[in-house]
Amino acid sequence: MSVVAGVGTALPLAATDGKLVPFIRLDSAHPELFAELMETVERIARESAFTLGPELERFEEAFAEFCGTEHAIGVSSGTAALELALRGLGIGPGDEVIVPTYSFIATAEAVSTVGATPVIVDVDEETALITADIVAAALTPRTRCVIPVHLFGRTVEMDPILELCRGRGIAVVEDACQAHGALYRGRPVGSLGDAGCFSFYPTKNLGGWGDGGAFVSNDAELSAKVRLLRSHGEGTRHHHEMATGTHRLDTLQAAILSVKLRHLGEWNQRRRDAAAQLSSELAGGELGLPAPVSPEGDCVFHLYVVRSNDRDSLRDHLDARGIASAIHYPTPIHLQPAYAELSLGRGSLPVAERLAGENCSLPIFPAIEDWQVAEIAAAVKDFEGAAGN
Ligand SMILES: *Cc1c(COP(=O)(O)O)cnc(C)c1O
Repeated sequence: MSVVAGVGTALPLAATDGKLVPFIRLDSAHPELFAELMETVERIARESAFTLGPELERFEEAFAEFCGTEHAIGVSSGTAALELALRGLGIGPGDEVIVPTYSFIATAEAVSTVGATPVIVDVDEETALITADIVAAALTPRTRCVIPVHLFGRTVEMDPILELCRGRGIAVVEDACQAHGALYRGRPVGSLGDAGCFSFYPTKNLGGWGDGGAFVSNDAELSAKVRLLRSHGEGTRHHHEMATGTHRLDTLQAAILSVKLRHLGEWNQRRRDAAAQLSSELAGGELGLPAPVSPEGDCVFHLYVVRSNDRDSLRDHLDARGIASAIHYPTPIHLQPAYAELSLGRGSLPVAERLAGENCSLPIFPAIEDWQVAEIAAAVKDFEGAAGN
């Protein structure tokens, strides 16, 4: 069993033990890729080139090209990418940043850790994403930035949000931590706003062997600032322009990610195809399926999330059939103890609260086989039949 250490816990991310369909499969399950990655690790270890350097720069160049941006900067996590983007934009105490409540907590956390105020908003019921209307209703004279999240791999309808913000001098930072390679009007996410932020946490569409992230942008000045912020404000050797700390992407991770980046397009396509197969087999049933992808947008299905008003029974049923499932996310950010001070109680952001109570993530990963997708669909249909429909 592969494990990834979280804070004080070990998360069994690839616990395939006895499961017909695990929730995810990581690199150790792909002998060829695994061998190439192990050779890469050995090479870096022999070179002892562990921080910064040409290997990291090669990855940054390749990732910038993948994202269609001028600049990419490897950082220590997706959360660090968001924080450094906000710091680079000069956002801090007294400033408001609009973030959706239906996301991983890091989206809001980054706002808090730079000392700004997160303005936590609800999402659209069909897409589970923020919209320009939702953003417009939350604007105040203190709004400095909006962070649209391309949740589960689905692209936010960006143009109306960009239009709304541009005229008002409000920055747009994309949280693309779940959507590496998704296209909006033919352009990759991360390249649409003022900056894009990515995570390379092991389970993401592009995942390393530990923590990592990237900041991407077409803004040369902002990128130069973030490059300084990433590593002790050190412009030239032993010359520190600002006090910022250590936020680098490990060179070992960059080398691993360079190998995996070459496969990402193909892996994303496999996720799209598996999702299409699931949606077509489950159509007409009682579960709420992911909304059809808009003609302008895309979905790289970081997760395949359905809705059920009897989610716990569905998950028990799947488990008994050897099919893993998960919940993303059981508690919207505004109801987390960390944000109790905002006094946004239960009922304040009702769409996200409803989604949080009904969502169920079914297995989807690039190595999933057609028979496994068929197995998931058959088990779901049995569940619907047993419920008397
Ligand atoms: C994973 C994730 C992050 C944070 O990434 P880390 O690398 O874990 O810090 C931020 N936002 C979203 C939407 C994520 O899924």
